[in-house]
Amino acid sequence: MLKYFNYDIVFQEIPDEVTLAVNFSLCPNRCQGCHSPWLWQDKGDEFTVQALDNLIKTYNGDFTCFAFMGGDNDPVAVNKMAAYIKDNYKNIKTAWYSGKEEIDKAIDLKNFDYIKIGPYKKEFGDLKQKTTNQRLYKILPDGEKEDITYKFQKK
Ligand code: SF4
Repeated sequence: MLKYFNYDIVFQEIPDEVTLAVNFSLCPNRCQGCHSPWLWQDKGDEFTVQALDNLIKTYNGDFTCFAFMGGDNDPVAVNKMAAYIKDNYKNIKTAWYSGKEEIDKAIDLKNFDYIKIGPYKKEFGDLKQKTTNQRLYKILPDGEKEDITYKFQKK
């Protein structure tokens, strides 16, 4: 089950997109130096299709990309909800911020436009650092992944 803790319109998380970023709790990753340890806990409300519809309708027209920030406790649900967005909201792109080293096998790349992988590791820094271990991929129409991590570092 996914639980969402809070959400906001943001400009940095996905380059060239206005993003409705939804933070999910129940994070299993336990990264040392985690910026939001409250997301490890069982907090927030269940992320249902109705909750998703309500969020999208509330912010309709104000964003170009819906980002799942977390959800590593239930990648099957992340994939299912992203598929729902693709089926029902043709103009909205989808992104997933995962803290895992690899993209989970439950993920069908055709449901996503962007996927970030990699846990936060203090010694390598966040996505804005050239030394970062994390990668942001743009998913191309043929299913190939283009590494666009460099876009964070040009600014
Ligand atoms: S994935 Fe994000 S929220 Fe989870 S422990 Fe790592 S830094 Fe914290």
